[in-house]
Amino acid sequence: MVKAYLGVDVGSVSTNLVALDSEFKVLETIYLRTMGNPVKASQEGYQMLISRLPGLKVMGVGATGSGRNLVAAMLGVDEVKNEITAHAVGATHFFPGVQTVMEIGGQDSKLIMLRDGVVIDFAMNTVCAAGTGSFLDQQSLRLNIPIEEFGGYALRAGQPVRIAGRCGVFAESDMIHKQQMGYPTEDIIAGLCEALARNYLNNLGKGKEIKPPVVFQGGVAANKGLLQAFEKMLQLEILVPDYYDVMGAVGVALLAAEAVQGRKTTFRGNKFILEGDFQSNSIECTGCPNACEVVSIQRHGQVLAYFGDRCRRWDASLRSGNGGLPEERKDDNWGQGSTPLWEEQISHDSQTAAGQDV
Ligand code: SF4
Repeated sequence: MVKAYLGVDVGSVSTNLVALDSEFKVLETIYLRTMGNPVKASQEGYQMLISRLPGLKVMGVGATGSGRNLVAAMLGVDEVKNEITAHAVGATHFFPGVQTVMEIGGQDSKLIMLRDGVVIDFAMNTVCAAGTGSFLDQQSLRLNIPIEEFGGYALRAGQPVRIAGRCGVFAESDMIHKQQMGYPTEDIIAGLCEALARNYLNNLGKGKEIKPPVVFQGGVAANKGLLQAFEKMLQLEILVPDYYDVMGAVGVALLAAEAVQGRKTTFRGNKFILEGDFQSNSIECTGCPNACEVVSIQRHGQVLAYFGDRCRRWDASLRSGNGGLPEERKDDNWGQGSTPLWEEQISHDSQTAAGQDV
């Protein structure tokens, strides 16, 4: 039997799973493309994990990433944390004195400042595509160079070409322009890496004190050209962890291990996860002017969780088994004159779930 703590990081581009042993050493890692279907990716990832670790006994499980709530409901996780905390914990595990974490993933990038193991500041870019893994994938396809070789090209450059990296659209058109002018591909790719590093530091690093040790993680940390560009600009040596592409999952697995101290895991088990027909759908709540987009996660039609409800009423109502309005809101004017949509929906979901075999 293999006992392990699991960490699952579900992002829009990749779904990563990590299994840690009881001494928090990495036993196994899985990195999958989410391909727009986080449920399928999580189920496939978990299936791969148990086939690589026969007899796996899950001691605790944690979830992070943009799909963390979905995974939390599917797996019955012990800890759910945002990506900032998960990445900071992961980096600190391998580099205890780390003061700066640069993370660049498929669709976003983060800069996390730590002092004495505590996150004191962070910045996140979810808007500009330039510098993210997706943008680099797109450029590698356009240049017909495998993404794994991108860094090598940059390191062979003689004289990096200046590329405008303020945004993805400008960077791409500037690269095309430089290609048309006949610059070598190596110099253009090195120029792109420098532009992306400049863009990252100008956007996320503005006003922040980037102190060593600096750890670079996320899928893009595989790109040696970008690593070299960061080291050149910061005039610092940058550390890249062995498990750079799954550090969020490592971090949340550690947090799950902490959360289950003195109690049993809430992990739902193989049958529940692998044989479940999970679906998610969303509705706009009309309970108040916030008009939250409330997402429900269902298994064989039974609602497992709601999220997106700012006031947490859908979630609270589900947990209490109460399909109606929360007690403290019954006397006010909220929702008078018509049944709030969330109330109708919960009642409908409760009926749908009745008698279902789960
Ligand atoms: S979920 Fe709560 S905060 Fe959001 S619209 Fe409904 S009642 Fe308002």
